[in-house]
Amino acid sequence: MQPASTRFFARALGMVAATLLFVGVFSQTTLYSRLNWWLEDSVQRLLGASLPMDHIVAFDVDEDSMQRLEPEFGAWPYSRDLYARVARFLSGHGARAIAFDILFSEPRRGDDALALALDGRSVLAAVALPSPLLRSPAYHEDLKRAALFGAAGGPGESLRAQAWPDLTLPLAKFIQPSRAKLGVVTVVTDADGIVRRLPLLHQAYGRVVPSMPLASLLAADPAVAPEVAAGELRLGSRTWPLDDSGSIILRYPSNAAAVPIVPFFQLVAAAAGVQGNAHVADLVRDRIVFLGSSSAVLGDFAYTPAGRLPGLHLNALFTELLLTDNVRRPAAAWLDGILLALALAIPLAMARRETLARPSEFLVGMGIIVLVTAGAGIILLAAGQGSRWLFATLAGTAAQVLALLAWLYALYREKQRLFYEKLAAQEANQMKTEFLNQMTHELRTPITAIMGFNKVNQLTDALGRAQRVHNSEIVHRNCEHLLALVNNNLDLARIEAGQLEIERSPTEVATLLDDTVSTVRVVAGEKWIALRVRIDGHLPGTLSLDVVRVRQILLNLLGNAVKFTDQGEVVLEAGWDAGILEMRVIDTGIGIQPENVARIFEPFVRVGSSRAPGTGLGLAITRKLVEWMGGTIRVSSVPGEGTTFEVRIPAAEVALPAPRPQLAPQEAALPALSGRVLVAEDVAHLRSLIELYLDKLGVEHVSVSNGFEAVEAALDSEFDVLLMDMSMPVMDGFEAAQVLRHRGYRKPIIALTAYQDPVEVERAKREGCSGVLYKPVSIEQLRKALEPLLTGRDGTPGVSEAQPADTAPADGDIVVNIDPKLAELVPRFLARCRDNAGELRGAVEARNLELARRIGHSLFGTGTSYGFNELGQVGQEIERAARAGDIAGLEGLPERLENYLARVRPVFG
Ligand code: ADP
Repeated sequence: MQPASTRFFARALGMVAATLLFVGVFSQTTLYSRLNWWLEDSVQRLLGASLPMDHIVAFDVDEDSMQRLEPEFGAWPYSRDLYARVARFLSGHGARAIAFDILFSEPRRGDDALALALDGRSVLAAVALPSPLLRSPAYHEDLKRAALFGAAGGPGESLRAQAWPDLTLPLAKFIQPSRAKLGVVTVVTDADGIVRRLPLLHQAYGRVVPSMPLASLLAADPAVAPEVAAGELRLGSRTWPLDDSGSIILRYPSNAAAVPIVPFFQLVAAAAGVQGNAHVADLVRDRIVFLGSSSAVLGDFAYTPAGRLPGLHLNALFTELLLTDNVRRPAAAWLDGILLALALAIPLAMARRETLARPSEFLVGMGIIVLVTAGAGIILLAAGQGSRWLFATLAGTAAQVLALLAWLYALYREKQRLFYEKLAAQEANQMKTEFLNQMTHELRTPITAIMGFNKVNQLTDALGRAQRVHNSEIVHRNCEHLLALVNNNLDLARIEAGQLEIERSPTEVATLLDDTVSTVRVVAGEKWIALRVRIDGHLPGTLSLDVVRVRQILLNLLGNAVKFTDQGEVVLEAGWDAGILEMRVIDTGIGIQPENVARIFEPFVRVGSSRAPGTGLGLAITRKLVEWMGGTIRVSSVPGEGTTFEVRIPAAEVALPAPRPQLAPQEAALPALSGRVLVAEDVAHLRSLIELYLDKLGVEHVSVSNGFEAVEAALDSEFDVLLMDMSMPVMDGFEAAQVLRHRGYRKPIIALTAYQDPVEVERAKREGCSGVLYKPVSIEQLRKALEPLLTGRDGTPGVSEAQPADTAPADGDIVVNIDPKLAELVPRFLARCRDNAGELRGAVEARNLELARRIGHSLFGTGTSYGFNELGQVGQEIERAARAGDIAGLEGLPERLENYLARVRPVFG
């Protein structure tokens, strides 16, 4: 999983990239430009400053002037004598420059007079043409002379200037020798037809000519030469930034229409000395004077952010704007970067908040983005600084919308997640309920049996010992089942919590398999099912295995195989495949339906219509154990024909012969122990039970009911072992053990605890206990725990000393190896079997099949347990024949039994 910060950066990068791409593409469209212009024009109209307009004045040949001048000078176009006259008048009255916004390109009457009247302060209009005309060399010569900069290959080529295919020039005689300036009067509009820019320089045929406003300034101050460098045009102390086409962006004042305009006839009158026109002389002093026409017939008009204005006004206005430096500085990348960063800050912050963001925050954020970016843009505009503020506003808004969409998506995902989590929780809850139902059901059955049979034993006086014992056995069996259920659950929980430890040790595989099979042999025999073990010759004798867990796995599989097989056989096969122990349990039972095969490994899943007892946990545990050991388990089954479980467990081959696994002790066959034990247990009936077991084991005992008494008794008197419950009143077992060890008590202390909790066990050991016994304690477990501790007392082992002398095997004898612990009981057992043989003969003769069956059953159960497999086999055959009413089959069996009993020689060791 990526860390949250990396995830955020990836998201933020994606968001910014998408925004810039989208707004970048949009900013190339006409819609964007128009929106930008409209907004900026509106801002300009609202915030434009008012100019004094005291550097300029324009004389307009308006309709009125035309009418008034017509009687004396005829109709327009006037003889150029008239212009010569007014030019002289204007020069004479201190005009700084005189710009004629009239194209003098055709020869006319009075040209010579005008040529004489012009000088270096005069500016003559040139007009740009959209297509080239056929020009004579003389034209190019004129252009060269009149140009501000450059011949071909000169600086003109690299200058930023508005390029035109052609320029119409005034007559050459006006320019030479007067040194009058040329000024291009053609205006340039944006795509929407509005004049916002003024190209300061124009270029045609490689020659650069100034615009009329610039030419007017040059004429007004001829001593100062213009310089062009690094995208700027410098004129004395003034500098104007040029864009790629050599234009500047103008800041229209709020009083753009208030250019001082005087009707031309007044100038003519003033020049003629007509009384009442003295104000004209005052007006022109120290100003740049423009002459032109706004008449509908002649004047050219242009649309500006300040409205529709005649070209004459524009030229005058632009000159004033240049002089007062009302030029907008172009957008700067660093400034745009800051605006963009401001715009994106909020969407990024929102994206960072992920699902924590609230809807109102998006709305407020949007407002802030627009306010900040548009506000900053407007403030900059008012200060004469251009910027891409609209771009920033749109980018911020788009990013905010993206953040909103991402938020909605995240919310949707979160909702989905919660939905699935809820489903999972419901399912888990349902599973828990099912588990509890199952568990309750599984517990109720044995508990009911226990309570019922116990009650019968308690309340029925005339029951007789045999029936009472029988009932008690049922109670016992059900207790064992309950215990198995609880243990299985604990096992499962422990495996699932990863608390299970695999303890491998050198193990004789054949012994382990035989031993395990013999555990289920009795049940298999009862069902008349053959049980076989087939061990592959290549299987190593000793493997490193966790004997307890492998045994548990096999018992589960074999137990199931026997349980779900009514006839036929169950085979346990074991083989070796390069470091892997392969075990197969094959049965000829009811099989499993294909659709159920995958489910049977789930806890509590019990399939098929079988009412066989069980918890439904066996296979779940088995699979987990196998996997925990790094192995695999597979099942294949044909319904009605049988099932095969195959387990493969990695196991190392070890050279050392493993110690022979201890066979489960047989309760009835155990010899007595001797010694003295102190029992500390507060629950009276548990205490009695332990006392009973100790009696049976032949051990002397004293009992106390709390830890304090235990300490006193242990220190008072001599005991071989102290059996101590860990949870007792007054002083608990842990404390008592601690006190005793503190006082130098050295005898073994065995902790009794109900909790199979590693922490509790660890604590008991820490406090000085030598071992642990888990409740409920069986007599075998008690014996197993006490035996090594009592052994060696007075130099004698605790087990019975009555070791019978080995019978030397004679010819024809059947020698059987028997566990030495059973030595004391075996002679009595064999004697009883001989009695049985006699009884069997009588039963067969008397056709008493029931008696024969019982004898067979008892022989079958006990023979195998003691280790006399042949006896078990004969017993099984007797029981089978008796059940089947097979008298003929029964007849040879008493003799076979007697024969065997006569020849059998047990050897202990
Ligand atoms: P239990 O045996 O206690 O019911 P398991 O987990 O051991 O629980 O088995 C689960 C189920 O799998 C059994 O109830 C049975 O339906 C099916 N099953 C297991 N082994 C066999 C087998 N050898 N033949 C047929 N069905 C089997």
